[in-house]
Amino acid sequence: MIALIVHGGAGKIEEKEEAKKGIEKALIKGYEILAKGGKAVDAVCTAVCELEDNPYFNAGTGSVLNLLFEIEMDASIMVSSGDFGACGAIKNVKNPILVARKIMEETDHLLLVGEGANIFAKAMGFPEYNPKTEKEVEKLKKLIEKGENLYFPNFKKLIEIYKNLKKEESYSTVGACALDHNGMIAVATSTGGIRGKLPGRIGDSAIIGAGTYATPLAGVSATGHGESITKNFVAKEICELVKNYDIQTAINIIMEELKKKNCFCGVIGIDVKGNVGHGYNTKDMAWGFIKDGKLVTF
Ligand code: ASP
Repeated sequence: MIALIVHGGAGKIEEKEEAKKGIEKALIKGYEILAKGGKAVDAVCTAVCELEDNPYFNAGTGSVLNLLFEIEMDASIMVSSGDFGACGAIKNVKNPILVARKIMEETDHLLLVGEGANIFAKAMGFPEYNPKTEKEVEKLKKLIEKGENLYFPNFKKLIEIYKNLKKEESYSTVGACALDHNGMIAVATSTGGIRGKLPGRIGDSAIIGAGTYATPLAGVSATGHGESITKNFVAKEICELVKNYDIQTAINIIMEELKKKNCFCGVIGIDVKGNVGHGYNTKDMAWGFIKDGKLVTF
């Protein structure tokens, strides 16, 4: 049994057709690897790279900007053997998920952030790349509303502006969970974070058990308000429940609890039996899977 499920974020989907096309493309590319007998870890990296390269989604190219109009990206990967790698607040790389994978495979650390993550990426041969899009610059300007000059590191001022920002309810982080022919599960998540975040902020997508988690029984990737997801260990809580339930039931149980706690998010998951599941308590979520050769999207 092999299967692949991906998401392109929870919340309001701004352009449904665009999102759907992106999800389908990522699924087809990732599933091709599994179908040829390839590894779950390769399938999720391929699917997530495809979504990172698609400017529609908030990951890699097209990532949202922080209050200094910079891109700082978070990404993580975990496999059912327990290996995990992540980078946080990384700048100027095309595919943060591949850097996270290198951290998992080439170091005994779990998470590299900021300047250290960038230097590591450079040392590993990742070329410099500017993921900024004009569309995102305009969106941040609109969010801040005033044409104030924020290109200075006056943190007190930034905090003030951040506190007064209208909080958005649209999250288009990307993620993938796969099960391969050898029964291995892999999960990958990648994001630009939250538009207008404070510089240096790292969200759930780089944190083990929050936005990404995998056990020998299950794997989950989350999207939504990163701080709430992290406080509730969303991905881990769901995976733990798979000891007693299939993935969809586990997701349903946790999503119900999260709603009561005002944790607004969406998740996708997979279990070792080849079941896939998804759930969200936001307005919408972009998701899709391929199982038994059949492609299904939102
Ligand atoms: N979870 C992401 C974060 O808080 C945002 C998203 O899902 O779009 O960084």
